[in-house]
Amino acid sequence: CSKHTVMSAVRSESTSTCPVLTKFQKNCATPTTFLRVVADAIADDMQAGLAVHGGGDLEMILTYVDALPSGKEEGLFYALDLGGTNFRVRSVQLGGEEERVVATKSEQLSIAQKLMIGTSEELFGFIASKLADFVAKEEPGRFRLEHGRKREIGFTFSFPVNQTSIDSGTLIKWTKGFNVSGMEGKNVVACLNEAMEAHGLDMRVSALVNDGVGTLAGARYWDKDVMAGVILGTGTNACYVEQKHAIPKLQNQSSSGTTIINTEWGGFSKCLPRTIFDQEMDKDSLNPGEHLYEKMISGMYLGEIVRRVLLHMCQTSDLFGQSVPAKLATPLTLKSQDLCKMQEDDTDDLSSVGSILYNIFEVKADLKERRRVVEVCDTVVKRGGRLAGAGIVAILERIERETKRLASGQRTVVAMDGALYEKYPQYRQYMQDALVELLGDELACHVQIKHTKDVSGLGAAVLAATNSIY
Ligand code: BGC
Ligand code: MG
Repeated sequence: CSKHTVMSAVRSESTSTCPVLTKFQKNCATPTTFLRVVADAIADDMQAGLAVHGGGDLEMILTYVDALPSGKEEGLFYALDLGGTNFRVRSVQLGGEEERVVATKSEQLSIAQKLMIGTSEELFGFIASKLADFVAKEEPGRFRLEHGRKREIGFTFSFPVNQTSIDSGTLIKWTKGFNVSGMEGKNVVACLNEAMEAHGLDMRVSALVNDGVGTLAGARYWDKDVMAGVILGTGTNACYVEQKHAIPKLQNQSSSGTTIINTEWGGFSKCLPRTIFDQEMDKDSLNPGEHLYEKMISGMYLGEIVRRVLLHMCQTSDLFGQSVPAKLATPLTLKSQDLCKMQEDDTDDLSSVGSILYNIFEVKADLKERRRVVEVCDTVVKRGGRLAGAGIVAILERIERETKRLASGQRTVVAMDGALYEKYPQYRQYMQDALVELLGDELACHVQIKHTKDVSGLGAAVLAATNSIY
């Protein structure tokens, strides 16, 4: 990719004069040999987590989703999606194999910061009230609920949940800046049920699913070659189709067929190239010591790592003159969208880098400084994208071990969702590079990373249909 070549040229020209940057780049390096070590370590933790509960860094949660969507599902179903910054409600009228999605309607609302760190009554009360509004506005002509049936919901809840059945599970821990009090260990569906009852809503949660599972299921509804669902957004995760006989912790349950595993790979922590900036960011986060892989590869954290590096460069007088700008010392001021915009600036004087730095930090950066900033962005994003690629390879190789799909030339699709992947071409490229380096051209050419935007709602609704009580 030509942009990449240009950037390496910029790098060699200016690093020699900035020791902080040189050291940081060295610590962030992810050569192929190292990525291989990471992919293998992830694979080991997957195996350990499949062997016994809590066996490795990856939870390898049993989702109870054994039957994948067939396309034959019929009826009216709902999807609720609570994840990062947004909350979504969707209705889906499924018409069976020929007609598929006959009608669908959705609404998106942002979750106020105070709900993310308030009480469970506040959070679920908000969700139930919005759901009630949504149902009240329904057009009966387009959406038909069969007589005598309750409205059934597929609830996409994008946090680690200890699944106790397809329609219940307890929260293991919050991630991504959520910290609602008193919820850990509680049944997520019971919380929603209470709130719905309080709002006079007679609806039933028929499936509780992770967003990765919803993405896999929603994509699979249209495409039989989908074997994994990966999220690269505010947070990150991967879910995939596993053979039951390869899951020792299933013990005396039936061992034929397949099931979806929610890896919760964000919790991976071994052999990661963590710098002092990663360590300090983790220490100041709402979940210190946890989800360390997520903190290196997902959208919520990339900008913050860059900010911390820039701050240090400023303090050691490698950047931005004498005094430290107040905004540069303020956590979370820099977003991954800003990094992307700066990396995309291909003007000679990096004018938009200059204006972004001015708008966010109120600094006037000269050309040399702008270049340095772009290098820091590139270093962090390259490391993130490549580490994500190594994770995807670990998943694909796991699938391959049981199915030999790639070796036999069978198309294998990874359904991908999340704003980081969607909106950051450079990150995508780094991820893809790592994937090909590790997998080799011959296998990689059968892999398709397919951007399936917002299919997790459809997936959750279809799984509600599969698990309908009627
Ligand atoms: C959560 C996962 C979720 C992912 C993507 C992570 O922080 O632990 O459950 O799938 O974010 O939303
Ligand atoms: Mg989401």
